[in-house]
Amino acid sequence: MGKSKDFDVVVAGAGTAGMTAAYLLASKGLSVALVDRRRKEDIGDKICGDAIAAHHFTSTGLPHPTDKVVRAYVKGIKVYPRDMRYSISVATTEGGYVVDRHGWGQELLGYALEKGVELYSDSIVQDLVLEDGYAKGVKIFNRSLKESMTLNGKIIVDATGYSSILIRKAPEAWGIEKDILDRDVINAYREVVKLKKRFDDVDYVHLHFISEYAPTGYVWLFPWDRDGYMLNIGNGVMPHRDIPKPHLLMERYIREVFPDLLRDREIIKKGTWNIPNRRPRHVFVGNGFAAVGDSAIMIDPATAEGIGYGLYGAYLLSKYIPEALEAGDYSQDMLWKYQHAYMTSPYGLRQARLDVFRHLMQAYSDADYEFVIKHGILTGKDVSKARDEDDIINSFDKALRVLKSVVHGKLSIIKDLDYTLKVMKTVKSLYLNYPESKDGIKEWSMKVDGIFAELRNRFRPYVPPGLMERTNKAFQTTG
Ligand SMILES: Cc1cc2nc3c(=O)[nH]c(=O)nc-3n(C[C@H](O)[C@H](O)[C@H](O)COP(=O)(O)OP(=O)(O)OC[C@H]3O[C@@H](n4cnc5c(N)ncnc54)[C@H](O)[C@@H]3O)c2cc1C
Repeated sequence: MGKSKDFDVVVAGAGTAGMTAAYLLASKGLSVALVDRRRKEDIGDKICGDAIAAHHFTSTGLPHPTDKVVRAYVKGIKVYPRDMRYSISVATTEGGYVVDRHGWGQELLGYALEKGVELYSDSIVQDLVLEDGYAKGVKIFNRSLKESMTLNGKIIVDATGYSSILIRKAPEAWGIEKDILDRDVINAYREVVKLKKRFDDVDYVHLHFISEYAPTGYVWLFPWDRDGYMLNIGNGVMPHRDIPKPHLLMERYIREVFPDLLRDREIIKKGTWNIPNRRPRHVFVGNGFAAVGDSAIMIDPATAEGIGYGLYGAYLLSKYIPEALEAGDYSQDMLWKYQHAYMTSPYGLRQARLDVFRHLMQAYSDADYEFVIKHGILTGKDVSKARDEDDIINSFDKALRVLKSVVHGKLSIIKDLDYTLKVMKTVKSLYLNYPESKDGIKEWSMKVDGIFAELRNRFRPYVPPGLMERTNKAFQTTG
C-alpha cells in the first residue's frame, strides 16, 4: 500500500478555478488538498489572452488582481470586421484587466496557502478512486520524488481544465458526457510580444473578425503593458480539415495585416492550447464529485472568455460543498444543487444563450461582419444586451435595420438574426427550467441537443475557399 492522506476536499488542478475553489473552501474551515502537475513556482502560467472583466470580482466578492500583476487596465472591447476602419465598442460597466497570468496565479496560490490549503505540486493526477459508486480520492504521482500517493476526500473536484482528467474517469452511471464535438472546441495560438513601435489604443482589448486569419474565431490584440510596447496577441479556430493550424494563420496575419507593427516583434512567450467553447456540460457532478472551470465547460462561447465563469463556478462550489459536508451527504443528488445553481444563474443562462449566438457568428463571412458592423445592424449596445436580455433590438430600430438590409440585398442576415434571437429565448427558458434532480435530465438534454443540432445544420462554419492552399503557399514561398 502506498502513502495516503485524508481531506474534506481534494481539488485536482491549480488553475484559476481550482485555486479559487481551494481558497474559498479553506476559508470556510475545510481541509483542502490542491494538486497540480506544475512545479510550485510555475503555477499560474497558462497560454491565455489574460483579459478579465472586473465585474466578475464584484459578483463573487473575490479579491481583484493587485496592481502589481495588472499589465493593463481596459475600458472594454473593440470589435472589427475585415476592414478595420469600422468597429463597435462594447464597454463593460467596470472595465477590465489584462493580467500577468503567472503573477496573478501566484497571487491566488498565496491566498489559498494562507488559508491552510495543502499543495501537492509537480504531481500528476492519474486516477479517480471509486468505491460503491462514489468518488473517494485521487491517485497522484510526484515527479521529483518519483512517488505515488492517494489523496482521499469526501468530495473530489475536477479543475484540470480542458483535459478534464477526472471527468474522463467518471462512471457511466453519473450520466456525464465526456467527449465534446470539434465544432465546440477552439484551438488557440498565443504570443506575448515586445514591440519596437507603439500600439496606440491601449484602452481596449481588440478583436478582429477576419476569416482569412481566424475563420470561426477571431484574432486578438490585447495591450500587455500600459505604454503600448507589449501585446498579448493570438487567434483561435475550430479544428476543421479546411482550416490551417492557428499559428500559421497568425504568422500570415502578422506579415499581411500588421507588418510594420508586428514583424520585428520579440516573442517573450508562445504556445497553443484548446478551449471548450459551448454551453456547460449538461451534468458535471457525481457521487462525491464535482467539476469546475473549463473542466465543467464554464465559458462565454461568443468570446471564449473563461476565467470569470470559472471564478463564479468556484464561488458556487464553495457555497454547496460545505452544505453537503454539514449534511454528511455527498451524493450526486446533493451536489446537484451546485449544478442547478450554476445552470440557472446569470452565468449559466448567458453561456447557453451565447452558445446559440456563437453558431450564427461562426457562419458569418467577412462580408457579413462588415455589413453588420458598418451599417449598425448590430451595435455595441446590442452586443452587450445580447448577453442577458431577450429583446435586444426595439421594434423601431429593427424596422430600420430591416430596411437597410433590404436596400443592400442582405435580408437573410436579418432573418438569421431574428431566428437566432428566438432560439436564444427558447434556450433561456429551457435553462431556467433545468431539472432540479437527475430525474428529467435525459429528456432535458434531448431537447437541448435537438436545438443545437438544428443550429449546427443551419449555420455551417464559414471557411474562405482555398484558405489551406493559400496558407501552404505563403510558407512555401517565404519559408
Ligand atoms: C489561447 C487562449 C486564450 C484565452 N484567453 C482568455 C482571456 O483572455 N480571458 C478569459 O477569460 N479566458 C481566456 N481563455 C480561457 C481561459 O484560459 C480558461 O477558461 C481558464 O484558464 C480556465 O481555468 P481553469 O482553472 O478551469 O483551467 P486551467 O487554467 O486550464 O487550469 C487547469 C490546471 O490543471 C492542471 N492539470 C491538468 N491536468 C492535470 C493532471 N493530470 N494532473 C495535475 N494537474 C493537472 C494544469 O496544470 C492547470 O494548472 C483563453 C484560453 C486560451 C487557450
